[in-house]
Amino acid sequence: MAIDSLKIMRAIMEGSKIRDEKGIIPLFGVYLSLYFTSYYNIVSFDFLSRMGKRRAEEAEKLLIGAAQECGYSTFHGIRQSWEWEELVQPMLETVDDQIEGFLAVATAFGWGGEIEVIDLIPGNRLHFRVHESYESAGYLKRLGIAEVGKCYMLRGVAAAFMDLLYGDAYPDGCFTFSAIEPFCRAKGDTFCEFIAEKSST
Ligand SMILES: [Zn+2]
Repeated sequence: MAIDSLKIMRAIMEGSKIRDEKGIIPLFGVYLSLYFTSYYNIVSFDFLSRMGKRRAEEAEKLLIGAAQECGYSTFHGIRQSWEWEELVQPMLETVDDQIEGFLAVATAFGWGGEIEVIDLIPGNRLHFRVHESYESAGYLKRLGIAEVGKCYMLRGVAAAFMDLLYGDAYPDGCFTFSAIEPFCRAKGDTFCEFIAEKSST
């Protein structure tokens, strides 16, 4: 059975209407909350500028690393949940299909407008395109054209998905992969693209 991304997205949209008194959304085995993407953008892009040009590389590494660890733990929780078991698991024919399931969940979370897989080489490489990432949109709006890709969250998450599928068993597989962003809307490209491959270190 092919992955019905729309069905997954609808279930998440519907489920996210349930919130406790603190606004926490208990869904897919993890605790979610609703944030303005502009708030998250302010936090990460201000962090980058405060670190200064000299420490830009270090700052970017920290942002990507945080996203990778978060994506790794969050999506591990998601795939252990009863919602995943009931809704997504029956659609999966191979281990690799999980990537499509993860991406449908990521889309429903608002992490990208439209995400399409370009290429998946099991165990080696994941390449996908995002059409309206909130980070690139936020960067362009506040700071204009960037010199390098600005979608640190999706970069970390791309690698985390591969870590979960092809790294050592949880929790030892994080950072087995790392991702680059060769195209980014923040640089003036039409879309953002991410390629996750085995880390060289
Ligand atoms: Zn981007």
